[in-house]
Amino acid sequence: MAGYPENRLHRLRKTAGIRDLVRETKLSVKNLIFPIFITYGENIKTEIKSMPGNYQISLDNLPGEIREITSWGIPGVLLFGLPRKKDETGSYASSSTGLVQEAVRIAKDTNPDILVITDLCLCGYISHGHCGILDGENVDNDKTLDTYREIALSQASAGSDIIAPSGMMDGQVGTIRKALDTNGYTDTAVMGYSAKFASSFYGPFRDASDSSPSFGDRKSYQIDPANWRMAMREIQADVDEGADIIMIKPSLAYLDVINRARASYNHPIAAYNVSGEFSMVKAGIAAGIVDAQTIILEILTSIKRAGADIIISYHAKEAARWLTEG
Ligand SMILES: [Zn+2]
Repeated sequence: MAGYPENRLHRLRKTAGIRDLVRETKLSVKNLIFPIFITYGENIKTEIKSMPGNYQISLDNLPGEIREITSWGIPGVLLFGLPRKKDETGSYASSSTGLVQEAVRIAKDTNPDILVITDLCLCGYISHGHCGILDGENVDNDKTLDTYREIALSQASAGSDIIAPSGMMDGQVGTIRKALDTNGYTDTAVMGYSAKFASSFYGPFRDASDSSPSFGDRKSYQIDPANWRMAMREIQADVDEGADIIMIKPSLAYLDVINRARASYNHPIAAYNVSGEFSMVKAGIAAGIVDAQTIILEILTSIKRAGADIIISYHAKEAARWLTEG
C-alpha cells in the first residue's frame, strides 16, 4: 500500500467540482420537518422570545404558514397545540375539535400533499405540566396510556399522517398501534420519540409550548443523558411495539446514539434538533460569533451524517431557502 508522498488526499479537495463529486452526505430540503405551535384566539402570530423567527400562531394564520413551508419544498410539519384550558387529565388533548385536530384539517385543506405529523403528549394540556396522569407526585404509566389511546384516535380521525407520542410512557407505541388498527386506521403511521433524553436543551420549547412541569422534573420517565445502552433498549421496545419511525431527541449532544441506532436498525431514523440547540446557535449568530448559513447547514449535515433520515428543526425554513437557492 502506498502512503505519503504517493497518497495525497488533498487531490480530492482541490476544486469545488471535485469536492461536490466526492461529497458523502447530501442534505436536502426533503429531509426537513418544521415544528408549528398552534394557539387559541384569532389573528395571533406571536414570536417566541427565546426562539427568534418562530411563532405561536392561531388557526386562521395556519394556511399562510403551510403555503410558505410548502413553497420552500419542506415536505411536512410537526404540530403542537397550546389550548385555552388545561385540566387535571388533559382532556382537551383528545377533543375532536381541539387545536391540533383542527390544524390537521386546515393543513390538509390548504395542501393535501403536505405530510402532517402530530405530537401526542399531555404536558401542554394538563394543569401540572407533566407528560402523564399523576398518582400523587408520580406519573401513572398505565392510566396515562388510556388517555394516549384517545388522543391518538382523535388525531387519526382528523387526518394526521403520523402520530408521534413524546411522553416516554412504557408501552405507548404498542398501545397506540393497537388502537389505530382496531379502529380502521391501519395506514396511520407511528413515529416513537423512542430515545428522548431528560435534557437541558428543551428550555426554550417549554416557553414556546407552555409545558413546564409545575413541580419536579421528567427524570423518572425520560432517559438519563449518560445512558446510550438504555436508549437502545427504548428503541428496541418501540420497534417491537410496531413503530414505523424511531426518533432520537435531542440531536447534537446525542449524535453517537443516532449513529448507533443507524448501525443497529433498518427503520427510518428521525432526529429532533431541539429548541436549546436552535436558540444557542441564534444567540451565537446575534453576537457575531458564527456565520448563520455555514453553521446551520454544517449542523444539519452532521445530524444526517450521523444517520438521521428525517431532521425536525426550527432552522428548517432558513435552511430550505439556502438549499433551494444554492
Ligand atoms: Zn410531554
